[in-house]
Amino acid sequence: MTQNNAQPLYDTFARIGLRFTRGNGAWLISDNGERYLDFTSGIAVNALGHNHPKLVKAIEEQAHKLWHVSNLFQSPEQEKVAERLCANSFADKVFFCNSGAEAIECAIKTARRYQYVSGHPERYEIITFEGAFHGRTLATLAAGGQEKYLEGFGPKAQGFVQVPFDDEKALRAAIGEKTAALLIEPIQGESGLRPVPKEFMQLLRKICNENGLLFIVDEVQTGMGRTGKLFAYQWSGIEPDIMALAKGLGGGFPIGACLATKEAAKGMTPGTHGSTFGGNLLAMAAANAVLDVMLADGFLDHVNAMANLFKQGLASIIDRFPDVVESIRGVGLLTGLKCVVKNTEVIAAMRDEKLLGVGAGNNVIRLLPPLTVTEDEIRDGLHRIEKAVQLVSNAHKQK
Ligand SMILES: *Cc1c(COP(=O)(O)O)cnc(C)c1O
Repeated sequence: MTQNNAQPLYDTFARIGLRFTRGNGAWLISDNGERYLDFTSGIAVNALGHNHPKLVKAIEEQAHKLWHVSNLFQSPEQEKVAERLCANSFADKVFFCNSGAEAIECAIKTARRYQYVSGHPERYEIITFEGAFHGRTLATLAAGGQEKYLEGFGPKAQGFVQVPFDDEKALRAAIGEKTAALLIEPIQGESGLRPVPKEFMQLLRKICNENGLLFIVDEVQTGMGRTGKLFAYQWSGIEPDIMALAKGLGGGFPIGACLATKEAAKGMTPGTHGSTFGGNLLAMAAANAVLDVMLADGFLDHVNAMANLFKQGLASIIDRFPDVVESIRGVGLLTGLKCVVKNTEVIAAMRDEKLLGVGAGNNVIRLLPPLTVTEDEIRDGLHRIEKAVQLVSNAHKQK
């Protein structure tokens, strides 16, 4: 089903041979009218599902008023989104951009500038962790440190040091005179939904305080309710200094944001950073609508209830088919299944049952329902997953 020959496009994506023309809540409808239960949510982007009435209305209304004025002028719309993000997090200040990688770029620049204006221009190194993914720009690739993505793209951007995951000794040994900040995903997304233990998050905070370093969290995938808290760092009882957001923030509209404390952002003075499109009015309308829904009473309770139901069902599938799937990964509705057989084989079998999941590293399948998924849809999804897993199990037994 993989097609790499869509002629006018770069061949960078191994696209699946499906074309979707409409969406509704957790459902995608293909050009031949087939209905798929979408547990990819556009890779954790469509947090409110497809075609959410509040999002549609917000974009529609803004489209009739004004689309874009640039950052030459004041923006009450940006101020409103920023105020709401800050009121519900550790942060005091926000910079808007257009993607996850851009949000991480801003986080890196913010940390380096903080050290620079604090009298430590020599502190520019960012320590990251094995298995990390922070984006595809040259600096965020260097931060992620994955050889397969760096190969052939010239010298790796300087100023990034990578240490093993959850290893205090290695981390302490890597901290030196040049260290500016630590950068970590509270739950590694692309490499297979590996959560950072709570105690390690607390240790990172402590180490940053002891050494005058900034603590940056990459919540591009884990943020915006995906894990059952508005931000995943909130599970660990600590607060970072800087946070990158993107995926779920616009509910499908491209947007990124870098959040920081007033102190951490003190070096980002006029002229030090910029973006043409960042904070675009349509993006702000989308983010405000997403926040209207997510900040309403009971929204996160619903996410946690659906996550529990989903996990119970997945656990029972694992019990019955340990020859296909071995464990549940992730937190909240950032859910995954670690496979025994090849994850791509199970994903294809799920697709045959009209359920969409997305692969991750370490042979994991990510199952990311929209946060608005209903109980019936979770049960429906579990039936499809079970059927797919059973078919894969039978096929392997016959071999
Ligand atoms: C998706 C992702 C990014 C990159 O976001 P883009 O919008 O693709 O640039 C960065 N960090 C994490 C943790 C991600 O999941």
